[in-house]
Amino acid sequence: MKWKETIKGLKAYEPGKPIEAVKKEFGLTEITKLASNENPLGCSPKVAAFLRENDFNFALYPDGYAQTMRTAVANHVGISEKEVLFGNGSDEIISIISRSLLSPDTNTVMASPTFSQYKLNAVIEGAEVREIPLNEKREHDLDAMFDAIDEKTAVVWVCSPNNPTGGVTPNAAIERFLEKVPNDVLVVLDEAYIEYVTDPTYQDTLPLFKKHENVLLMRTFSKAYGLAAFRVGYAIGQQSLLSKLEPVRAPFNNTVISQAIIPIALEDQTYIEKCRQINDEGRKQYVAFCEKHQLDYYPSNTNFILFEIKADSNEVFQELMTRGYIVRSGAALGVPNYLRVTIGTAEQNAGLLAQLEEILASKGVLV
Ligand SMILES: *Cc1c(COP(=O)(O)O)cnc(C)c1O
Repeated sequence: MKWKETIKGLKAYEPGKPIEAVKKEFGLTEITKLASNENPLGCSPKVAAFLRENDFNFALYPDGYAQTMRTAVANHVGISEKEVLFGNGSDEIISIISRSLLSPDTNTVMASPTFSQYKLNAVIEGAEVREIPLNEKREHDLDAMFDAIDEKTAVVWVCSPNNPTGGVTPNAAIERFLEKVPNDVLVVLDEAYIEYVTDPTYQDTLPLFKKHENVLLMRTFSKAYGLAAFRVGYAIGQQSLLSKLEPVRAPFNNTVISQAIIPIALEDQTYIEKCRQINDEGRKQYVAFCEKHQLDYYPSNTNFILFEIKADSNEVFQELMTRGYIVRSGAALGVPNYLRVTIGTAEQNAGLLAQLEEILASKGVLV
């Protein structure tokens, strides 16, 4: 068949071993998955109750404009309904942006390490990928990213807080960057973890899109809202920008059930606040572990933390799996000898850290 050159050699996303398979292989009864930054507390109990109590007509297509969910999101964020674009997860928005703007005649600029889907989509579209290492403050190096921009640059990705490092790019730095970037270059600000940010200096990013037509903010219900299964992400941008992207979106990309629950999830901000607080406490368990053992870690504003283990991360990943804990090996994320762990409940964190302490002690790397 006449495959695009760009997809030759691509490998399918490896979601990690299914929980059931891991249980069987290692004779375990319980598995704790702290690998994909899902909310360990699940979603708001109000959403769960709504799902138990309601029936849906499965024969009909969903509302392609997602009116009810659109109104709820626009009101929650404080923007107009025309300033929202929905995706089947923000993963689909990344794909919509890439299909709309990237081609073999263009390039795209991103940090390294950062979220893997930006690069994958760019590769599929045949665009050149320019990866710029984080700076010494472990933030996006916006000066070097600016230098990487030329007349063929179509999209710049800024992941804030960044996955897999967890740090925020300060607004002032983004603002200075936007003043210089040509306004025909789209700057995407991926804020998948925005609800978890606790940095007191963090500022609202909405003014950035209001001021700059070439800015798109991206958010999701998959992380703090605990609704990853429903696949809802959204972009915030000026109407002129979104009207270009809308035709590339699949017409019925959010299900009837997803559209029904999002307004309920948004209403329960008490739940989100509670999740943020519990997550903040959980992060401290990892920070304390790292400080106790003098292991380097990336200060996190998210529900995951990237930290040093002074040992082969693929090996430690495997050993943790045999003991019932699934995490992400830093090697797979471009940061060998580190692990990225999703913050779980206090009990899950303590359980994982006890196992990790044993493993690292047996390797003789702990102080
Ligand atoms: C998880 C994640 C996403 C994707 O979220 P979905 O809405 O579930 O597709 C996007 N960006 C970053 C940085 C993420 O970590």
